[in-house]
Amino acid sequence: MSSLESLELSGKRVFLRCDLNVPIKDGTITDDGRIRASLPTIEYLLKSGASIVIGAHLGRPKGEIKPELSLAPVAHRLHELLGEHVNFKENISPRARVTLLENLRFSAAETSKDETERQKFADELSTLADVYVGDGFGAVHRKHASVFDLPALLPHAAGFLISAEVEVLKQLTQNPERPYGVVLGGAKVSDKIGVITHLLEKVNLLAIGGGMVFTFLAAQGKEIGTSLVEKDLIPTVKQILLRAKELGVQIHLPTDILVAPTFSNHATPTLVSSDAMPPDQMGLDIGPESAKNFALAIKSCKTVFWNGPMGVFEFSSFAQGTAVVARALSEVSGISVVGGGDSASAVRSLGFADTDFGYISTGGGASLEYLEGKVLPGLLALDL
Ligand code: AMP
Repeated sequence: MSSLESLELSGKRVFLRCDLNVPIKDGTITDDGRIRASLPTIEYLLKSGASIVIGAHLGRPKGEIKPELSLAPVAHRLHELLGEHVNFKENISPRARVTLLENLRFSAAETSKDETERQKFADELSTLADVYVGDGFGAVHRKHASVFDLPALLPHAAGFLISAEVEVLKQLTQNPERPYGVVLGGAKVSDKIGVITHLLEKVNLLAIGGGMVFTFLAAQGKEIGTSLVEKDLIPTVKQILLRAKELGVQIHLPTDILVAPTFSNHATPTLVSSDAMPPDQMGLDIGPESAKNFALAIKSCKTVFWNGPMGVFEFSSFAQGTAVVARALSEVSGISVVGGGDSASAVRSLGFADTDFGYISTGGGASLEYLEGKVLPGLLALDL
């Protein structure tokens, strides 16, 4: 693999693939972590005398031009953070040092499953630059034109963010210091089944919360009321629980749950035992006893990876479980990794600083797929 430092950059135009897919509410960026994480590579390229054309995406416009998914607010924030004019989507002027292209996913070819269509788009993009630098870690698990096809057409290298992300993920997969614990939450078990199955063979401890935990509780034959559940996965979850027993992996599931009659921040929360959930209410957070037990388990580990909130943290009444787990992670004496855009936004919205953790990954799906042992197209394309 060519390193960024080995590329001839002076006077060259670089196509830089970044992950600038930030949460935006009413036109305002609510967490600019991914933009800030892209700065070191951008600054290095500029210092090396290159000009930059940045390609990125926002949300899932599915090939349509959707004004609410324009990268305009990102161009503005990038300009503020960089202290440099950011030419946005206009013709790439030879004088502009930094240009940000409009959302690449406004073009259906970017995400197309048809290789020829993707290739054609990659060919077009390749005419914009002399060199390719891949730094959009959050998109490396996607076989998309700007992530997978384009690097093959130009001299290429990984940027500093991707290199740092891969370094951390290697620490989690190659000889992690033990005990090694993984904490998973979030909405869907189906998103995480692959990583659970794969990691079960490697970890000492697995703690599960969030909406996905109710499929686990259902697999144990418990009443889960109107909570989120993926019934078709109950047999798989049963197998996972059996396999964990065989391997001696500690499984932590919540013993108390905060339930409410409706999915709302204003619904009255009631604390119940996970053995006695009312049939007409839904679980929206792990209870304080569970949070305390999860925190103790986390702090006993030397390596911890966490992905997915423990409850509906967007509602202040149901954010406590996630906050307690985040605090415990920040107190781990070894390496603690917060995996993913959503989890990263959750800890920031709860008032934690990035420096409270060993590492905050910018890519949720990408880091989970890496931990699953999958080959990621965007890393393959960069020879990583
Ligand atoms: P994910 O994208 O899979 O990591 O899921 C994140 C989402 O899971 C967040 O928006 C949370 O609000 C949601 N979530 C967490 N716990 C629950 C729960 N008990 N019921 C419903 N949704 C939940």
